[in-house]
Amino acid sequence: MDLTGQQIIGQGRSAEGPETFTATNPATGDALPAAFYHATSSELDRACALADAAYVALEKKTPEERAAFLDKVAEEIMNLGDALIVRAHDETGLPEARFQGERGRTCNQLGLFASLIREGSWVDARIETALPDRTPFPKPDVRLMRRPLGPVAVFCASNFPLAFSVAGGDTASAWAAGCPVIVKAHHAHPGTAELVGLAIQKAAAATNMPEGIFSLLYGPGRSTGMDLVKHPIVKAAGFTGSQQGGRALFDAAAARPAPIPVYAEMSSINPVFILPEALKEDAGQIAAGLRQSVTLGVGQFCTCPGVLVMLSGPETDVFLAQTATLLLESSHDTMLTAGIFDAYRAGFEKLDNKEAVDLLGHDAVQFEATGNRAVPALFRTDAATFLADNELSDELFGPTTLAVVCSSRAEMFSVARKFRGELTATLHGSQADLKAYADLLPLMAARVGRLLVGGYPTGVEVCSAMNHGGPYPACTDSHYTSVGTGAILRFSRPICFQNVPDAFLPSALQNGNPDGLWRLVNGGMTRDSVQ
Ligand code: NAP
Repeated sequence: MDLTGQQIIGQGRSAEGPETFTATNPATGDALPAAFYHATSSELDRACALADAAYVALEKKTPEERAAFLDKVAEEIMNLGDALIVRAHDETGLPEARFQGERGRTCNQLGLFASLIREGSWVDARIETALPDRTPFPKPDVRLMRRPLGPVAVFCASNFPLAFSVAGGDTASAWAAGCPVIVKAHHAHPGTAELVGLAIQKAAAATNMPEGIFSLLYGPGRSTGMDLVKHPIVKAAGFTGSQQGGRALFDAAAARPAPIPVYAEMSSINPVFILPEALKEDAGQIAAGLRQSVTLGVGQFCTCPGVLVMLSGPETDVFLAQTATLLLESSHDTMLTAGIFDAYRAGFEKLDNKEAVDLLGHDAVQFEATGNRAVPALFRTDAATFLADNELSDELFGPTTLAVVCSSRAEMFSVARKFRGELTATLHGSQADLKAYADLLPLMAARVGRLLVGGYPTGVEVCSAMNHGGPYPACTDSHYTSVGTGAILRFSRPICFQNVPDAFLPSALQNGNPDGLWRLVNGGMTRDSVQ
């Protein structure tokens, strides 16, 4: 399929602007085919106007019709075949096998949200029937459910070109809530974006969706992205990327005459505590698991374990030497973009130049001249240095982790208290360790979105019980998850109907429960109709 680099605006294509850019293969530095047009403000306005119209039209579609659209998008993505996998590989340097997996995850996410809206109970219907004889005042009939927020802006993530980009989790959850989506493509994988965008365009036509359910715009974040978030039609935004980018969009959204939520997932160092008995019993296994988790996707996962916390001692020295060797032996793989590689190298060199931080296993590190290849590494410091130097709490996006070695249990708790908002924290501990360090669990639970005992934070399960979020600066809003079915809540809001006659209520709240939903009726969960 030939790429044209034009915006996708509803069922149309458009290339009004004079400015274009190309994608670059980060492994070779070569420009890839097709020039992509920066969206003009009139193109952005058209996409927003179509989305506004689609928001109204979508209210008239049944959940089954909307679910069929999500299923069709997944089918059309699969129909793209190898062309999608090859382009994603060329644009990112990530192996094709990774994209076979990520495409599966993307389609499964769409299917999961299709099932969620077919079942329907996500609208969280609550009914409290009237008590006209209550004294001193009668109780009205009060009914509550969730409804879609309005058009949503989605920013593609560089590190998930499929699963958190054009038809990724943000988009799927917004559609599932009943919201049209306008996507701002990431400059690093515009061809992948176009292919997926065309699949969506086809699916929307085939399932008779209002055309404004989806548009795809290209352009710089600071202009196109900002204009999108500031557009009065847009009612929410989903973002995965840097703290600086997420915060800029969040601040702009808050400064609008009518502020809107920006659900930005930004930076996390995902501490892993390795407690003394676990270290004695499982050092080899933990080292091997860490190597895999730290280097997965060239360390370009928001859940990459960036800090290890452990007590000093001979076992720790042996474990760290072993982990350093494993990382040293790991391949030097291409990072997503030259910019991300440059940021990694600069962060790496900054750590290396700190007097009280040691790079383990290397005499000196030479980054290769071409190919944007990351060198995986393990750094070591002591708790006092970590506590004193705030820069050591910053995310270094890439396959590196920093071991913070504590001289006492008390020092380990001081280090734990230093963590700000994180997506995850992991504890490796025997039963005895967990008892001896029981206070670590609530301490870290207050700081993270997901707490693991054993295992590694990478590999986020897409399911109804997942929380992928956390307090700032991991995310701008810790109330919500961006992975799993709970993600739909970000793009809906509650509406209460008081004393509204049955015939004028949405079906979810009608006495007869025609949709067969689980509802909270007068304090109890039931699928029965209201008498
Ligand atoms: P990014 O720079 O934050 O870019 C993500 C999106 O936001 C892009 O569409 C970008 O537009 C836009 N954007 C960036 N700054 C903006 C601003 N000030 N105003 C408006 N829009 C803005 O992220 P990236 O390109 O993926 O990677 C850069 C760094 O972000 C990485 O080195 C890493 O440190 C961090 N990162 C973290 C995670 C994570 O999950 N923790 C994931 C990805 C990246 P453009 O097209 O103009 O760039």
